[in-house]
Amino acid sequence: MEKSKSRIPLKVFLSYLALATLVIIVGWLVSNEINSFTQAQKDETIEKNKILKIGKLLTLMYESESFARSAIQSNYKEPYLNFLRKNDSISIQIDSIKLLIDEPHQSQLLDSVNNLLQQKIKNINELRQLRLNDTSEKTIEVAIQKLSSIEDQLGRLSLKDFVEDPENLDENTKKMLLEYIDINNRYIPRDSSNSVDQQTLDSIVIASREMLQNVKEEATTQKLSLALKERQLLKNDLTTSQQLRQILTAFENEFVTNARVINAERERVLQRSIRVITIAAIIGAILVLVFSIVILRDSWRSQQYKREIEKSNEHNKLLLKSREQLISMVSHDLRTPLSTILGYTELLKEANLNEKEAHYTDRIKSASGYVTQLVDDLLDFSKLEAGKIKAERIAFNLKTLITETAESVQAIYSQKNIALQIDVDPQIQNTIIGDPFRVKQIVSNLVGNAYKFTQEGSITIKIRLKNSQNQQLVNIAVIDTGIGIKKEKQQIIFEEFTQAESDTEKKYGGSGLGLTISKKLANLLGGNLFLESKEGKGSTFSFVFPAEFSTQKAVKTETPKTNTPLQESYTAIIIDDDETLLKLNQEILENNNIKTHVFSSGKKALEEIQNIDYDFIITDIQLPSFNGFFFAETLRSDEQYNYKNQPIIAVTGRKDLNKKSYIDAGFAEFLYKPYTPQALLEKIHLILNREETTPETEIEETETMQKDALFNLKSLSSFISDKEGLLHIIEVFKENTQKDLSDLKKHITDENLEEVRKLGHKMQTMFKQIDAQTVVPILNFLEHFKDSEKKQLSRNYKALKKNIKLTFSAIDKHLK
Ligand code: ADP
Repeated sequence: MEKSKSRIPLKVFLSYLALATLVIIVGWLVSNEINSFTQAQKDETIEKNKILKIGKLLTLMYESESFARSAIQSNYKEPYLNFLRKNDSISIQIDSIKLLIDEPHQSQLLDSVNNLLQQKIKNINELRQLRLNDTSEKTIEVAIQKLSSIEDQLGRLSLKDFVEDPENLDENTKKMLLEYIDINNRYIPRDSSNSVDQQTLDSIVIASREMLQNVKEEATTQKLSLALKERQLLKNDLTTSQQLRQILTAFENEFVTNARVINAERERVLQRSIRVITIAAIIGAILVLVFSIVILRDSWRSQQYKREIEKSNEHNKLLLKSREQLISMVSHDLRTPLSTILGYTELLKEANLNEKEAHYTDRIKSASGYVTQLVDDLLDFSKLEAGKIKAERIAFNLKTLITETAESVQAIYSQKNIALQIDVDPQIQNTIIGDPFRVKQIVSNLVGNAYKFTQEGSITIKIRLKNSQNQQLVNIAVIDTGIGIKKEKQQIIFEEFTQAESDTEKKYGGSGLGLTISKKLANLLGGNLFLESKEGKGSTFSFVFPAEFSTQKAVKTETPKTNTPLQESYTAIIIDDDETLLKLNQEILENNNIKTHVFSSGKKALEEIQNIDYDFIITDIQLPSFNGFFFAETLRSDEQYNYKNQPIIAVTGRKDLNKKSYIDAGFAEFLYKPYTPQALLEKIHLILNREETTPETEIEETETMQKDALFNLKSLSSFISDKEGLLHIIEVFKENTQKDLSDLKKHITDENLEEVRKLGHKMQTMFKQIDAQTVVPILNFLEHFKDSEKKQLSRNYKALKKNIKLTFSAIDKHLK
């Protein structure tokens, strides 16, 4: 069972471990996949970005080409400048694309695009120059025409005179024109006074014209070659453009392909992630299922174990119960014969025995005493084990209790020469509340052990009051100078059936239960038992329990005096199914002048009881079919049983019921079997003395409750006015009554019925005078009883005596 206890948590732990591992692995895989997926998505975005940029680049390229064409076709600077600006944008765009790519070949391609662009710019520039040259030829022509027009004027010339826009001239033409203008200006007279002949001027103009013609021809020739060059350049430009487009288109295609690859990769990663998650979910589900089955099986098993434990607990409880019942039964069965053995031994001891016989009876007595103690211990032990003993709360005088207990143990060991000292803390004079019977049991055991294991020296009982954690504790230490107990044995002697040495039982007797019971009882009282001992030096057993002081009067343990003879002659009914015990009890009672009627069952007793004038009943409790409780109940239920509150003593072998149960059931006293004749007589004396001597408390109670019913001195006072006279009359009345009572008793014993009737009548006069309502009816019965009712006389006499006593006590108190 223990194994399974430790296996269940391990399995649970393993299952959690496996699931955690699975979660970590899956988490790691999924996170990897998500990373790849995110990377793929990022790559795709970059590729898309690249495609967009290439697209833009191509657009720019087309725009640049369009500007290039305009730049070539027009002589204006603006298209050319636009073309250059576009090319700058293209360069910026290329640079931004370059930042996005990390493939070296793509970088190289972009560099080649850049180179081609530079080449294109150069081409365009050259082409433009060629076109501009074309303008120079026109200019020369214009110059010739102008020269023709200025032939008449012949003034000084400037470049402006020949060309509208001298800035746009190529260097060569400009140089030639300037040379010509210079020549002209040298030969043209500075003022009109300088007369140059017309012929000279003409020749100059002609020469100039020729020269210009030559220049024009030269320019035409040059134009031809330029046209060729232009074609070449255009071709170059076309090729460059084509190359550029091809490169960029290739680029675009590459990017598109890349984007597609990345997209496919992303798709693949997504699929893979889904696969991983699905597989993980399946594995997880399988793991959960497997472990759930394992754990469920274990929990089912543990439930089963629990059920088995509960069953075995139940079984143990039953065993304990049956053990208790067995012990109770066995002890009951032992008690009856033990009572017989003890009783007859006592009776035997009173007979005239010789020394040998007396020795034998002593041995029988001590052996049966030992068995009695063992039976009692076993019973107490089993009751304590079953938690059936409850602590009582009664006010008692601790000092008296301990002294009486110690002295009674001392009496048993009187042959031992051991001094007994009792040292009581002066603070403990007051009554305390607790369980005096259990305190007595513990102290009796400790003092008994001290005597048992001490051969010489002393036994000291120290009672001290201690303060501990807001409560007061009583410490009863029993200190002896005996054999002591070895250190290693000091703990085990508190365990049941253990003794300090293996030969202890042989040497000293005992069952090894005493200390176990004492310790359990001490715990029951909220206290404990401690031991200090030195081998060979002696032991100190300390019984510590919480003290609760009381303001109530202590309950006196009634100690009946069995040696005072009973004042009356009594009749008893004894019921017991054990014939030997029945006979024994009969013998004990008759030896003490008590008349007996014996019955083997309650039923038989009830059949005859109306014919018996009985004073008390002794009944066994465990009677077959009609037990003691039922007997008492039936007896009280019907008048025919002649029951007038006569006391009943319960005799029982059962120790599972406490005193209260018997008192509540209407018993006056109870006696555990086995008992000695002495114990039985003590109980009888106790109940009869209670009858004979009405306790003070009872008188007090009666006084307050029934004072008016007991007497009324009004009519008596009307004759005697002074108190002294009244007191005297009462005194005389009391004396006469005592005499009448003793005469009455004598007549009842002698069965002198007529005298009884006469006395009954005589006594009524005075009691009627004082209106004694409890006494007069009894006297009335004594006056008028029938002969058949004579058996009730004794009982009525006792009632009369009791009530007269109560009445006189009340009058005395009243007159004080
Ligand atoms: P028992 O019936 O044998 O006396 P107890 O439980 O009362 O059983 O005591 C158990 C054992 O403890 C005794 O057998 C004895 O060995 C030892 N013991 C008890 N009291 C004393 C004592 N005062 N001195 C020495 N030994 C003692």
